[in-house]
Amino acid sequence: MIIETNSPEETFALGEKLGTEARPGQIYTLNGDLGVGKTVLTQGFAKGLGITEAVNSPTFTIVQEYDGGRLPFYHFDVYRICDIDEMEEIGYDDYFFGQGVCLIEWANLISELIPEGAISIRIEKDLERGFDFRRITLERTGSSHVC
Ligand code: ADP
Ligand code: MG
Repeated sequence: MIIETNSPEETFALGEKLGTEARPGQIYTLNGDLGVGKTVLTQGFAKGLGITEAVNSPTFTIVQEYDGGRLPFYHFDVYRICDIDEMEEIGYDDYFFGQGVCLIEWANLISELIPEGAISIRIEKDLERGFDFRRITLERTGSSHVC
């Protein structure tokens, strides 16, 4: 599915809708260049889960946990990971295979760890369509699951 947005508010609203629909154990991967709107979408997603706490990129911690919403929310930003072992060190599988919801910014850097059935979100600019235009592609990964 492809959604086009023309403002940060629209991207936030898409994130909020996804957060409202998120199920326990679901993993979302979020990819796109710096400044494309990953954090905007994530902030909407957290609101959709009922989280009122401010959500920012957990750049120095890999994962930030929010327990104030409908489900536990694990927000990963793996941009600064140098070695995949760092994921083992934080015990990533407890998050990925738990009952909360994971959203992983820059997930393509750890693609070998992403389970089948994760929902992939990709945000792209297209400057020919304007500075605030974003194309957001949603896909369920793996062939054994139907969206
Ligand atoms: P990232 O986390 O991908 O690095 P951010 O979410 O921090 O990016 O920043 C996105 C920037 O782009 C914000 O300044 C936001 O206001 C701006 N922006 C402009 N148009 C859009 C849009 N359609 N969707 C999301 N953000 C947008
Ligand atoms: Mg960000």
